[in-house]
Amino acid sequence: MKRQVGPSITDPVRYVKGVGPRKALLFEQLGIRTAHDLLNHFPFRIDDFSRLVPMDEVRPGDEVTVRGRVIGSAFVGSQRGAALRISLCDGRGVIHLIWYNMPYMLRCFPPGKMVLASGNVEWRRGGPEMAHPVWQTAPESFHADIERGPVIPVYHSTAGLTSQAIHKIVREALRVYGPLVPPAMPDVILTKHGCLGEGQAYNDIHDPPSASAWQAARRTVAFREMLYLQIALLAMRKEAQENPGPGAFRDFRLPDEFVRGLPFRLTPAQDKAVADIRGDTASGKAMNRLLQGDVGSGKTVVAMFALFAGVANGFQGAFLAPTEILAEQHKSTFEKLSKNMVNVGFLSGATGLAEKRKMLDALAKGEVDVLIGTHAMLEPGVQWKRLGVVVTDEQHRFGVRQRLTLPGSATLTPHVLVMSATPIPRSLALTLYGDLDVSVIDVMPPGRTPPKTVVLDGRGRQAAYRKVREEVAAGHQAYVVCPLIREGETGRKAAELVKKELEEGYLHNLKIGLIHGDLPRRAVEETMSSFSRKEIQVVVSTTVIEVGIDVENATVMVVEDADSFGLATLHQLRGRVGRGKDQSFCFLVSSDTGSGHDRLQVMETVSDGFAVAEADLEQRGPGQFFGTQQHGLPEIKVGDLQLSLEVLREAREEAKNVLSSLESPNPDPGLVKLFSSVKARFGDLVSYGRSR
Ligand code: ADP
Ligand code: MG
Repeated sequence: MKRQVGPSITDPVRYVKGVGPRKALLFEQLGIRTAHDLLNHFPFRIDDFSRLVPMDEVRPGDEVTVRGRVIGSAFVGSQRGAALRISLCDGRGVIHLIWYNMPYMLRCFPPGKMVLASGNVEWRRGGPEMAHPVWQTAPESFHADIERGPVIPVYHSTAGLTSQAIHKIVREALRVYGPLVPPAMPDVILTKHGCLGEGQAYNDIHDPPSASAWQAARRTVAFREMLYLQIALLAMRKEAQENPGPGAFRDFRLPDEFVRGLPFRLTPAQDKAVADIRGDTASGKAMNRLLQGDVGSGKTVVAMFALFAGVANGFQGAFLAPTEILAEQHKSTFEKLSKNMVNVGFLSGATGLAEKRKMLDALAKGEVDVLIGTHAMLEPGVQWKRLGVVVTDEQHRFGVRQRLTLPGSATLTPHVLVMSATPIPRSLALTLYGDLDVSVIDVMPPGRTPPKTVVLDGRGRQAAYRKVREEVAAGHQAYVVCPLIREGETGRKAAELVKKELEEGYLHNLKIGLIHGDLPRRAVEETMSSFSRKEIQVVVSTTVIEVGIDVENATVMVVEDADSFGLATLHQLRGRVGRGKDQSFCFLVSSDTGSGHDRLQVMETVSDGFAVAEADLEQRGPGQFFGTQQHGLPEIKVGDLQLSLEVLREAREEAKNVLSSLESPNPDPGLVKLFSSVKARFGDLVSYGRSR
């Protein structure tokens, strides 16, 4: 279909020159549907090849970039096992690129290919070498580009759509749609915070004339995203503080009885969280609390206290989990511990139609006290009789937008408890969850043995898998985690390949399942349930297993290319083992013998999630910390942005200014406009200011 009018920023991505139906589908896989989405698909890093050095001028110890053609390849023996050696020549000299334990990289370097490589030069085997360099296919027309500086943006890509192809298409989109992007922040704010105009920012982020211009553009985008988010959060908080909620709870006999009847005593931290919840719900204002606690710290019973308090005071409760398996897990825990004290219902996407109708009917009549389930309970047809308490688990999976949509579906505003196992340093929690009060469970229930964590280099890999075999032979199960789904140019371990490799090698004869984000949800859940039924002994996956899965029998985890993950993520991952009484193991395999390896060492000695999070923050800065998209900030797409705490604080301060200016009798029209774009972005979340 041809469009009738001029281009619009909401045009489907296939209108962009160079995007056919096939590419449009691939873009869809990356979550990109419109031209606007495309412009917002930011490169997650740049390769700065601007320090290009002729090969006869490189010296040992130099950090340089070279450009040359592949003239040969070989496997050479080294102390660290067979190494792949690619020889590059630029007409003035030869340099060798080395990869340890990555034989499959060979196919990335056919003879004659023009390559740019950046790294540290070492003198080995009689000549200059770079081990594990950052590299790119060099454009043949490179010289044309060299004047503006060869700063190459690198995009998250997918099979069939390389970073370079994306760059080319984004450039095209910039030309046509760039000028149509509406200004996001009024000029006063831009000037005050040293931000670029919207057009300039998009341009410099996708087509950076220099590394510093790229940084400046990303800072602008980060500031904008943070400002929007902070305005939304502060407006929500203000609204929440003024909201009476379902009224003060007075009767706590049922939840108290529940706690007394538990087969264990609450830890002091759980006691404190329970007291916080009692205080909130009895106050006559709506509760908006974040419950943070390491994996296995016992958040569920605290959540149950809140839900039971609701029931005791005549309200229904919702217990919302991000996945089907987690929802089912909650249901069985709930049933086990609650001993039929309340009527529990269950609703998920998999619930059959007849069953669902019955459930909705019972819910509307108030026959169900607590409904446990997934997103399915957010659907429009779901009517509650008197919803009073909402608990969401692993809320970072829902993101800010969904965080509060549920209450909107009820006539009353319920008490809200969100739970997260992602340890976020307090300094950040305040900025990220500015609209919530925070309770922290920082003590583990007694009798837990933390997993023994060991960092291994490439050579130690075999030992890790030997341990996997031993554990499996003893009737236990294992996880193997990889940074990628399928192989890409970075040469990082890919789940699909590793599974094959293990089936044919270290783990032959074992039953191995595969889980990653590209598989249909159904398939993932099926594999997970066969794993919990012990039909599969090993699961190879990407970080999708990070959240909430509880298989007590899994006692060993191997993380491949562990240096590609942040410490906080690794901590989350290893929380999947060590759920039971048996000693468990987590092997962090990293062929990076330099700083990446040292960074991981912290994991061997530190087992407290908050301490790990602080170390992560210190090592990599908050940009990296958020970059993993694990923290409820899907709106921030700037990837591993070097976004400093300063930007965050600055945005928060400005957001406060904006909101108080809006209260004045004649608010600045620029700010009014800003606020309405925030509302457009965050939907019905923010009604603050609507009355004006
Ligand atoms: P998470 O915080 O990861 O959601 P859970 O709530 O699933 O943790 O709790 C993990 C396990 O610990 C559950 O089996 C739960 O019954 C148990 N548990 C919770 N609190 C205590 C406690 N105070 N003492 C002993 N075991 C507890
Ligand atoms: Mg849990």
